[in-house]
Amino acid sequence: MEYKIALIPGDGIGPEIVAEARKVLDKVCEKYSHKFSYTEVLLGGASIDAHGVPLTEEAIVQAKASDAVLMGSIGGDAKTSPWYKLEPSRRPEAGLLAIRKALNLFANLRPAYLYNELRDACPLRDEIIGDGFDMIIVRELTGGLYFGARKTTEENGVRTAVDTLSYNENEIRRIAIKAFEIARKRRNKVTSVDKANVLDSSRLWRSVVEDVAKDYPDVTLEHMLVDNCAMQLVRDPKQFDVILTENMFGDILSDEASMVTGSIGMLSSASLNETKLGLYEPSHGSAPDIAGQNKANPIATILSAAMMLRYSLDLDKEADAVEAAVQKVLTDGFRTGDIMSDGCKLVGTKEMGDLIADAIA
Ligand code: NAD
Repeated sequence: MEYKIALIPGDGIGPEIVAEARKVLDKVCEKYSHKFSYTEVLLGGASIDAHGVPLTEEAIVQAKASDAVLMGSIGGDAKTSPWYKLEPSRRPEAGLLAIRKALNLFANLRPAYLYNELRDACPLRDEIIGDGFDMIIVRELTGGLYFGARKTTEENGVRTAVDTLSYNENEIRRIAIKAFEIARKRRNKVTSVDKANVLDSSRLWRSVVEDVAKDYPDVTLEHMLVDNCAMQLVRDPKQFDVILTENMFGDILSDEASMVTGSIGMLSSASLNETKLGLYEPSHGSAPDIAGQNKANPIATILSAAMMLRYSLDLDKEADAVEAAVQKVLTDGFRTGDIMSDGCKLVGTKEMGDLIADAIA
């Protein structure tokens, strides 16, 4: 099959890690007889340098015309980079927010998977880790408290601030459908997280999720209160497969879940819209402190490319092959500096990309 991929190298380590992900994708093409045509799209600091703005209309058109967008990371050192002397709406991060909005990305996916080889980086006790954990957080990205009406007033010298947490049933239904579809590609379990003992928005959330669940009799649904979920993530993370939740709860829980894996250079992510189009990127930033030194770990970006194969292109077998290649290289003892431990072999960004590409079976 033939697919159009928009590649956003971005800033800092972005171009280095995207080049390695492309190397792996090219190997997938070769092994599985696909054709990927790439369009390079400028975003963030790279776009400011070329066009004076962090995102151009042309870049949006290029992204929309593709089957999926694979991104490195954007931004520079806020203290030294000239990009941060610009007004906030012209800085690199504004470009990222604008492209997410232009593509209408409402579902954010953040996997938290613990490789047995990296269990020393996990802050949890050995008996809690057990055989490891493998979950994905599906977070609603465009509604809730972060987008509701807000105001601060002052009366008789006392200030009052109000934020509004609002969801309509359509917004809940579309993210719930995503979570159930994703569960079908995994272990068929959804844990929907809310605060239904207190919040009306959560009671609506729960009732719509239950409705959607009727169309997925093969997927087990359970509900969990958000405070309990925060505890369960560090008490027994193995119990989770897909965690479905609203914007603010997801913001907090996805950071907690990723921290229990302990390795920032390994964490992939995806943001999806109502079509198959998605934006895939590592969870980490552009790491200007190590940019251009062949030190960055490309695995989070390579695993983001695997998510792209699975969720935007429906190439599950190929996604499995990429994940298995990453697993093999770790089992063989190769590590970039950020995940290095005693007895392992230290490699750079390019060598790690070569090893993973060579391991695609
Ligand atoms: P960061 O994630 O870039 O770096 C934090 C630390 O982790 C640094 O020491 C870095 O060297 C290390 N690190 C990160 N990724 C690594 C990798 N793949 N391999 C090895 N080490 C890695 O966070 P920061 O320093 O706070 O931010 C730097 C820039 O990135 C800022 O401009 C910030 O706005 C931007 N940022 C962008 C995104 C994005 O593009 N989505 C996300 C977060 C931060």
